[in-house]
Amino acid sequence: MAVSNSKTTDKKKAPTSKKAAEAPYTSEASVVVDNTEFVKSDESVDNIVRLKLMALYSLQVIDTQVDKIRIIRGELPLEVQDLEDEIAGLSTRLENNTAEITELNRAVTEYNEEIARSREMIKKYEQQQKNVRNNREYESLSKEIEFQGLEIQLREKKLREASVAIDAKNKLIDDVKAQLEAKESNLRDKNAELSEIIAETEKEEQMLMVKSEKAKAIIEDRYLTAYTRIRKSVRNGLAVVKIERNACGGCFSKIPPQRQLEIRMHKKILVCEYCGRIIVDETIADTIETSN
Ligand SMILES: [Zn+2]
Repeated sequence: MAVSNSKTTDKKKAPTSKKAAEAPYTSEASVVVDNTEFVKSDESVDNIVRLKLMALYSLQVIDTQVDKIRIIRGELPLEVQDLEDEIAGLSTRLENNTAEITELNRAVTEYNEEIARSREMIKKYEQQQKNVRNNREYESLSKEIEFQGLEIQLREKKLREASVAIDAKNKLIDDVKAQLEAKESNLRDKNAELSEIIAETEKEEQMLMVKSEKAKAIIEDRYLTAYTRIRKSVRNGLAVVKIERNACGGCFSKIPPQRQLEIRMHKKILVCEYCGRIIVDETIADTIETSN
């Protein structure tokens, strides 16, 4: 992302950028901004500074457009990533529940085998009861039969519980499968949208980058350095701002009337006393914004 998230405060940067950006320009034949040529009509400082401010503001407008594109493009992959994470989570849930059903089915087989074994034992004891020599032996076998009967009841209870659990898990699996299908379809759409946007914005970005380079070419190095430094140090990427409702368009600090007058005179390039951003007046901003 082009927008800087530097922790440096705007205020901290003010003195250095002020120093770098305040001196007026002395010579410049012509300034080309966004294919519009502003030919210098006289040698006055006013005109030279005005053209420089226009170039700087023009560069800012172009770079802001690039920033916006990169922000849009930066957010889409995040949406795709979120969706992929959700799908991974659902897949894990599906796997876990399927494994739990397998385990429950294994237990069901085991309970059925145990019940069959108990029934066989009961049959065996009942046979033995027919050949007992005394009451004590008969009673003892009756106790064994009773015990196996209870064992069967316990296993049957467990079988019913397993059956309920399996039904619930199957329902849950159906639900998770439906969610997965919806998310996967959503992901396919998002990926298609993302590739389309990337293709579109890359083309637009390239065009803007060419314009940005063109604007940079006509700006004196020291101003360009100041511009780049301010842009990196502020959160919104704005190094050149206009006066908005008597305030700095970057940090919204009030600009005293005398300072505003100086800015409008175009005698030198002036910066915000609070945030260090280069300030242009409305006439310069309007000229650039209408030509863009
Ligand atoms: Zn400011």
